[in-house]
Amino acid sequence: MIYKNIATVFFSLLVSLAWAQADKIIKLKPITDKGSFRTMVETDSLMAMIELKSLIPSVQYELRYASSNNFTGQRLYPKNTHVTYLRRKPALALAKVAEDLKEKGLGIKIWDAYRPYRTTVRFWELIHDERFVANPSKGSGHNKGTAVDLTLIDLKTGKELEMPTPFDDFSAAAFHGAKNIDDLRTRNRELLRTTMEKYGFVPLETEWWHYSWPGSSAYDVLDLSFKALGTVVN
Ligand SMILES: [Zn+2]
Repeated sequence: MIYKNIATVFFSLLVSLAWAQADKIIKLKPITDKGSFRTMVETDSLMAMIELKSLIPSVQYELRYASSNNFTGQRLYPKNTHVTYLRRKPALALAKVAEDLKEKGLGIKIWDAYRPYRTTVRFWELIHDERFVANPSKGSGHNKGTAVDLTLIDLKTGKELEMPTPFDDFSAAAFHGAKNIDDLRTRNRELLRTTMEKYGFVPLETEWWHYSWPGSSAYDVLDLSFKALGTVVN
Protein backbone atom coordinates (compact mmCIF):
# COMPACT_ATOMS: atom_id res chain seq x y z
CA MET A 1 0.00 0.00 0.00
CA ILE A 2 2.75 2.37 1.07
CA TYR A 3 4.74 1.49 -2.04
CA LYS A 4 1.71 2.18 -4.16
CA ASN A 5 1.31 5.58 -2.49
CA ILE A 6 4.96 6.38 -2.99
CA ALA A 7 4.64 5.40 -6.64
CA THR A 8 1.56 7.63 -6.99
CA VAL A 9 3.31 10.57 -5.34
CA PHE A 10 6.38 10.07 -7.49
CA PHE A 11 4.28 9.87 -10.63
CA SER A 12 2.31 13.04 -9.83
CA LEU A 13 5.59 14.79 -9.07
CA LEU A 14 6.86 13.82 -12.50
CA VAL A 15 3.65 15.04 -14.11
CA SER A 16 3.80 18.39 -12.34
CA LEU A 17 7.46 18.79 -13.27
CA ALA A 18 6.59 18.15 -16.90
CA TRP A 19 3.83 20.73 -16.67
CA ALA A 20 6.12 23.28 -15.08
CA GLN A 21 8.55 22.72 -17.93
CA ALA A 22 5.82 23.11 -20.55
CA ASP A 23 4.57 26.23 -18.82
CA LYS A 24 7.95 27.90 -18.78
CA ILE A 25 7.93 30.52 -21.50
CA ILE A 26 11.18 30.87 -23.32
CA LYS A 27 11.14 34.51 -24.23
CA LEU A 28 13.06 36.25 -26.95
CA LYS A 29 14.93 39.44 -26.26
CA PRO A 30 12.86 42.06 -28.04
CA ILE A 31 13.77 45.72 -28.54
CA THR A 32 12.13 47.48 -25.59
CA ASP A 33 13.99 50.75 -25.61
CA LYS A 34 12.71 53.67 -27.65
CA GLY A 35 16.17 55.22 -27.89
CA SER A 36 17.75 52.08 -29.38
CA PHE A 37 14.91 51.80 -31.85
CA ARG A 38 15.31 55.43 -32.90
CA THR A 39 19.03 54.83 -33.51
CA MET A 40 18.21 51.79 -35.64
CA VAL A 41 15.79 53.82 -37.77
CA GLU A 42 18.34 56.62 -38.15
CA THR A 43 20.89 54.06 -39.33
CA ASP A 44 18.51 52.24 -41.68
CA SER A 45 15.30 53.95 -42.76
CA LEU A 46 13.80 50.60 -43.82
CA MET A 47 13.49 49.79 -40.12
CA ALA A 48 10.98 52.63 -39.64
CA MET A 49 7.49 51.78 -38.49
CA ILE A 50 4.88 53.63 -40.53
CA GLU A 51 1.43 54.43 -39.14
CA LEU A 52 -0.83 53.06 -41.84
CA LYS A 53 -3.61 55.64 -41.85
CA SER A 54 -1.07 58.41 -42.27
CA LEU A 55 0.02 56.67 -45.46
CA ILE A 56 -3.32 55.26 -46.68
CA PRO A 57 -6.11 57.66 -45.66
CA SER A 58 -8.86 55.37 -46.97
CA VAL A 59 -7.85 52.46 -44.76
CA GLN A 60 -10.39 51.36 -42.16
CA TYR A 61 -9.32 50.15 -38.71
CA GLU A 62 -11.11 47.66 -36.54
CA LEU A 63 -8.29 46.79 -34.19
CA ARG A 64 -9.74 43.72 -32.57
CA TYR A 65 -7.22 43.43 -29.75
CA ALA A 66 -8.00 46.98 -28.66
CA SER A 67 -11.44 45.67 -27.63
CA SER A 68 -12.69 42.42 -26.12
CA ASN A 69 -14.20 41.50 -29.50
CA ASN A 70 -11.54 38.89 -30.29
CA PHE A 71 -11.01 35.19 -29.75
CA THR A 72 -9.57 35.65 -26.24
CA GLY A 73 -12.60 37.67 -25.09
CA GLN A 74 -10.17 40.13 -23.49
CA ARG A 75 -8.89 43.54 -24.47
CA LEU A 76 -5.12 43.23 -24.99
CA TYR A 77 -4.14 46.67 -26.32
CA PRO A 78 -4.60 49.93 -24.42
CA LYS A 79 -8.12 51.32 -24.63
CA ASN A 80 -8.62 53.75 -27.52
CA THR A 81 -5.72 52.44 -29.57
CA HIS A 82 -6.45 53.95 -32.98
CA VAL A 83 -3.08 53.47 -34.62
CA THR A 84 -1.33 50.55 -36.22
CA TYR A 85 2.07 50.13 -37.88
CA LEU A 86 4.09 48.21 -40.44
CA ARG A 87 7.75 48.56 -41.44
CA ARG A 88 8.45 50.89 -44.32
CA LYS A 89 8.57 48.33 -47.17
CA PRO A 90 5.36 46.42 -46.33
CA ALA A 91 3.62 49.73 -45.50
CA LEU A 92 4.48 51.14 -48.95
CA ALA A 93 3.41 47.87 -50.59
CA LEU A 94 0.10 48.00 -48.73
CA ALA A 95 -0.45 51.52 -50.04
CA LYS A 96 -0.08 50.10 -53.55
CA VAL A 97 -2.58 47.36 -52.73
CA ALA A 98 -5.06 50.02 -51.59
CA GLU A 99 -4.45 52.06 -54.74
CA ASP A 100 -5.04 49.02 -56.93
CA LEU A 101 -8.26 48.09 -55.14
CA LYS A 102 -9.55 51.65 -55.33
CA GLU A 103 -9.99 51.26 -59.09
CA LYS A 104 -12.46 48.48 -58.30
CA GLY A 105 -14.30 50.59 -55.71
CA LEU A 106 -12.74 48.56 -52.91
CA GLY A 107 -10.60 49.27 -49.91
CA ILE A 108 -9.00 47.50 -46.96
CA LYS A 109 -9.93 47.06 -43.33
CA ILE A 110 -7.18 46.16 -40.88
CA TRP A 111 -7.75 43.98 -37.85
CA ASP A 112 -4.15 43.91 -36.71
CA ALA A 113 -0.66 44.71 -37.94
CA TYR A 114 2.22 45.45 -35.52
CA ARG A 115 1.64 43.62 -32.27
CA PRO A 116 3.92 44.36 -29.29
CA TYR A 117 5.76 41.24 -28.15
CA ARG A 118 4.13 41.42 -24.72
CA THR A 119 0.79 40.68 -26.40
CA THR A 120 2.19 37.53 -28.03
CA VAL A 121 3.36 36.41 -24.57
CA ARG A 122 -0.12 37.17 -23.21
CA PHE A 123 -1.76 35.15 -26.03
CA TRP A 124 0.47 32.23 -25.10
CA GLU A 125 -0.44 32.47 -21.42
CA LEU A 126 -4.12 32.47 -22.37
CA ILE A 127 -4.22 29.91 -25.19
CA HIS A 128 -0.99 27.91 -25.02
CA ASP A 129 -1.52 26.15 -28.33
CA GLU A 130 0.72 26.67 -31.32
CA ARG A 131 -2.08 25.80 -33.72
CA PHE A 132 -3.76 29.09 -32.77
CA VAL A 133 -1.13 31.48 -31.41
CA ALA A 134 2.57 32.10 -31.95
CA ASN A 135 4.99 30.52 -29.52
CA PRO A 136 6.82 33.40 -27.76
CA SER A 137 10.11 31.56 -28.18
CA LYS A 138 9.75 32.14 -31.92
CA GLY A 139 7.92 35.46 -31.99
CA SER A 140 5.66 36.41 -34.86
CA GLY A 141 5.84 38.55 -37.97
CA HIS A 142 3.34 40.80 -36.23
CA ASN A 143 5.97 41.50 -33.53
CA LYS A 144 8.35 42.65 -36.23
CA GLY A 145 5.86 44.87 -38.02
CA THR A 146 5.96 42.65 -41.10
CA ALA A 147 2.55 40.91 -40.89
CA VAL A 148 -0.95 42.23 -41.35
CA ASP A 149 -4.44 40.82 -40.81
CA LEU A 150 -6.96 42.40 -43.14
CA THR A 151 -10.05 42.09 -45.29
CA LEU A 152 -11.69 43.89 -48.19
CA ILE A 153 -14.35 46.59 -47.89
CA ASP A 154 -16.66 48.33 -50.32
CA LEU A 155 -15.30 51.89 -50.37
CA LYS A 156 -18.74 53.43 -50.87
CA THR A 157 -20.59 51.68 -48.06
CA GLY A 158 -17.61 50.86 -45.86
CA LYS A 159 -19.00 47.35 -45.53
CA GLU A 160 -16.83 44.26 -45.47
CA LEU A 161 -16.98 41.96 -48.46
CA GLU A 162 -18.19 38.48 -47.68
CA MET A 163 -15.35 36.11 -46.85
CA PRO A 164 -15.27 32.39 -46.04
CA THR A 165 -15.06 32.96 -42.25
CA PRO A 166 -14.86 35.80 -39.74
CA PHE A 167 -11.44 37.01 -38.51
CA ASP A 168 -9.57 34.60 -36.19
CA ASP A 169 -11.85 31.71 -37.02
CA PHE A 170 -9.49 28.79 -36.55
CA SER A 171 -11.44 26.29 -38.61
CA ALA A 172 -10.55 24.57 -41.88
CA ALA A 173 -12.93 26.96 -43.67
CA ALA A 174 -10.32 29.69 -43.11
CA PHE A 175 -7.73 27.79 -45.18
CA HIS A 176 -6.96 29.03 -48.68
CA GLY A 177 -7.61 25.53 -49.96
CA ALA A 178 -10.94 25.17 -48.10
CA LYS A 179 -13.63 23.19 -49.84
CA ASN A 180 -17.33 23.99 -49.98
CA ILE A 181 -16.96 27.76 -49.97
CA ASP A 182 -19.46 29.46 -52.28
CA ASP A 183 -18.34 31.29 -55.41
CA LEU A 184 -18.74 34.82 -54.05
CA ARG A 185 -16.64 34.18 -50.93
CA THR A 186 -14.03 32.27 -52.93
CA ARG A 187 -13.79 35.14 -55.41
CA ASN A 188 -13.38 37.73 -52.65
CA ARG A 189 -10.73 35.68 -50.85
CA GLU A 190 -8.88 35.19 -54.15
CA LEU A 191 -9.05 38.87 -55.02
CA LEU A 192 -7.45 39.76 -51.68
CA ARG A 193 -4.81 37.09 -52.23
CA THR A 194 -3.89 37.98 -55.82
CA THR A 195 -3.74 41.70 -55.02
CA MET A 196 -1.57 41.18 -51.93
CA GLU A 197 0.73 38.80 -53.83
CA LYS A 198 0.98 41.23 -56.73
CA TYR A 199 2.72 43.71 -54.40
CA GLY A 200 4.96 41.18 -52.67
CA PHE A 201 3.02 39.86 -49.67
CA VAL A 202 2.99 36.16 -48.84
CA PRO A 203 -0.25 34.44 -47.78
CA LEU A 204 -0.61 32.00 -44.88
CA GLU A 205 -2.36 28.82 -46.00
CA THR A 206 -4.37 28.42 -42.80
CA GLU A 207 -5.62 32.02 -42.35
CA TRP A 208 -7.05 33.84 -45.37
CA TRP A 209 -6.71 37.23 -43.57
CA HIS A 210 -3.01 36.99 -42.64
CA TYR A 211 -0.24 38.21 -44.96
CA SER A 212 3.43 38.63 -44.29
CA TRP A 213 6.32 40.44 -45.85
CA PRO A 214 9.20 38.19 -46.96
CA GLY A 215 12.64 38.41 -45.36
CA SER A 216 11.35 39.05 -41.86
CA SER A 217 14.60 37.69 -40.38
CA ALA A 218 16.13 41.08 -41.21
CA TYR A 219 13.84 42.69 -38.62
CA ASP A 220 13.98 42.58 -34.84
CA VAL A 221 11.10 41.63 -32.59
CA LEU A 222 9.81 44.79 -30.93
CA ASP A 223 8.16 45.30 -27.61
CA LEU A 224 7.48 49.00 -27.89
CA SER A 225 4.06 50.40 -27.08
CA PHE A 226 1.99 52.09 -29.79
CA LYS A 227 2.49 55.31 -27.88
CA ALA A 228 6.28 54.92 -27.87
CA LEU A 229 6.32 54.18 -31.60
CA GLY A 230 4.31 57.32 -32.22
CA THR A 231 7.10 59.42 -30.77
CA VAL A 232 9.79 58.03 -33.08
CA VAL A 233 9.84 60.29 -36.10
CA ASN A 234 10.21 58.41 -39.37
ZN1 LIG B 1 -1.97 37.57 -38.36
